[in-house]
Amino acid sequence: MAKKSAPSNDSVFRYPLLLEPDGNAAYQDSLTELIRSQLASILNLAIPIANNKELKIDSFKLLRDRETIYGIFSREAEKGQAESAGDRAGHQAKTGSQDIKNAALYEPRIEFIKAQLESLLRVVNLEKGGNTVDVDGFRLKNLKDWLVPSACDPIEVFGYAGARCDADCIFCYNRGNPPSLALGVLRKSASGELQEMMTRLNYFSPVGGQSLFPSMGSIYEVLMHPGILTVLRKLREKTPAVFRIATNGTLLTPRRVSQLAALQPVYLYLSLNSASPSRRHKLMKDRNPGVAINALPLLRKKGIPYATVIVPWPFDSLPEMLEDLSSTVAYADQHDSHIIQVNLPGYSKYFSSEKLYDLDEVWPATVARVRELREKTSTPIVVMPGMAEENYYEERKNRPKIIGLVKNSPAARAGLRKGDEILELSGLTVGSRPQARHLLAMIQESKAATAKVTVKREGRSLNLSVNLRDFSYPYSESIDRHMGIVMMGTGFQLGYLEKLRGIIDTCQAKRVLFLSSTLVRHSFEQALVESPLFASGEVDIDIQVPRNNFFGGNIFMGDLLVVQDFIDCIKEHLEKGSKRPDLIVIPSSPFNLGNWKRDLTGRVYLDIEREVGIPVELLDCETIYD
Ligand code: SF4
Repeated sequence: MAKKSAPSNDSVFRYPLLLEPDGNAAYQDSLTELIRSQLASILNLAIPIANNKELKIDSFKLLRDRETIYGIFSREAEKGQAESAGDRAGHQAKTGSQDIKNAALYEPRIEFIKAQLESLLRVVNLEKGGNTVDVDGFRLKNLKDWLVPSACDPIEVFGYAGARCDADCIFCYNRGNPPSLALGVLRKSASGELQEMMTRLNYFSPVGGQSLFPSMGSIYEVLMHPGILTVLRKLREKTPAVFRIATNGTLLTPRRVSQLAALQPVYLYLSLNSASPSRRHKLMKDRNPGVAINALPLLRKKGIPYATVIVPWPFDSLPEMLEDLSSTVAYADQHDSHIIQVNLPGYSKYFSSEKLYDLDEVWPATVARVRELREKTSTPIVVMPGMAEENYYEERKNRPKIIGLVKNSPAARAGLRKGDEILELSGLTVGSRPQARHLLAMIQESKAATAKVTVKREGRSLNLSVNLRDFSYPYSESIDRHMGIVMMGTGFQLGYLEKLRGIIDTCQAKRVLFLSSTLVRHSFEQALVESPLFASGEVDIDIQVPRNNFFGGNIFMGDLLVVQDFIDCIKEHLEKGSKRPDLIVIPSSPFNLGNWKRDLTGRVYLDIEREVGIPVELLDCETIYD
């Protein structure tokens, strides 16, 4: 019987080998390099054990030469990792293959195969039928073996359409990406991208909760892709899940909006930035700004809910930006935007080596204006990151306070108001914002017809009954998870402290260095001081906040820190003469992109411990997107 061959599209999952004489080899001697490379790859995935004790290996000797010690993990040895996103993109364009760094973030076993093959090919020639063959890449044999558990969000397929953008925003974050960022843009031909999306679709299984491992880079404008509708239509045959599409709006013509309406449920994050045609043109180089601006009433008409996204870039001046923010918010409110999302601006050192504006002036001024606007706007306005607003204005963190209600939502219709603080949900006491969000989501998922909400309003407690079936546009059951209630971000989950206590107890640590972030530090400190888990005081917890040297500029988000930032912070801390901790704990969120705990450069977190010589544990926590 003829052997069944793999579907032809599976060949898109192929990767290049780096076989130049030097390549990424640390040692000139090929056998030494073969061993080093194999050991490095293995030690990034597994820990050797002797007599039931874990061993920290960092070098090796050859049995034929028992004198020389060879390092395994020196940065020099890992220089192949420093290949820039640009070099990778060039190589990739030439070979039509996948980006190994993107893939390795999510699936390091591919990098393992690559490293082993490259090392072996320095020692052996491969032969076919008596002839030497030159190999310059490899592909994954059976893609079914590379499926991973997945929530099967449709963006896992159509996100690969977003490799380009037809706008050129003066604040585009993609322009300021560090060269060693692993999340390169997957530049292939449009047909190559379509082939990849169709292959992913083939293995996309919402019923089984599985999909092909991701290897997503930065996502630009997916609606620009010539095959996007084909992909979305095929996806709709497989899943009823919401298509959450971020778009700059340049292509939201009446025809395109109708096409998207036929694919509901669809939710758009529309980067409007300004409702003024001239300012939108100045900010985004949009030659036809009317299309995006006119899209808001069109989306309303076609029943597609959308978030209006605004980056308040202080251009030409802060007062000018604030004025425009007010009019853009009013415009979005007038056209029943689901929410208005104000993304506080930032830039890396690669974006500009000069200071472009004073963040300590722009952020507070923007947040202050948003708070004024909330008073006269029915649409909820959220600031991203929400913890910035909380740190500026809320002495007490993590309160389940309502900052807005989606228009026509069950909560709005039941009479809940901005400023209400949630005390109870369906009889359960609410102590924090994450808890409120969790309970709201549970109530909604339970398909209950009504819910009881107790709130504190103007010092008095008030009981309200919410009819969960009473809503209309822009609220949608498939989009909203919290009855239409909007709060100041996700907040700090108190459960993280239980995990921290567990780690400390397991490691029997007495002096802990906890590496937090500028935004989360205040909430973490409040939770720590109030927690009975740490009341005895027998553990000394020192909190430090690493600087973001990797992105530089004015970027300070904790989730954008990389391994080297943590190492620099720890070394600096120790050099100041601080007591040496016996344990370092780091939130896992900067390593959350895949399941393999790699940072944004693809470097494994284990390198921190190797470099500073103190045990490092990750505290499992979610990425705080808002
Ligand atoms: S729309 Fe987004 S991806 Fe495109 S230039 Fe603007 S910020 Fe960059």
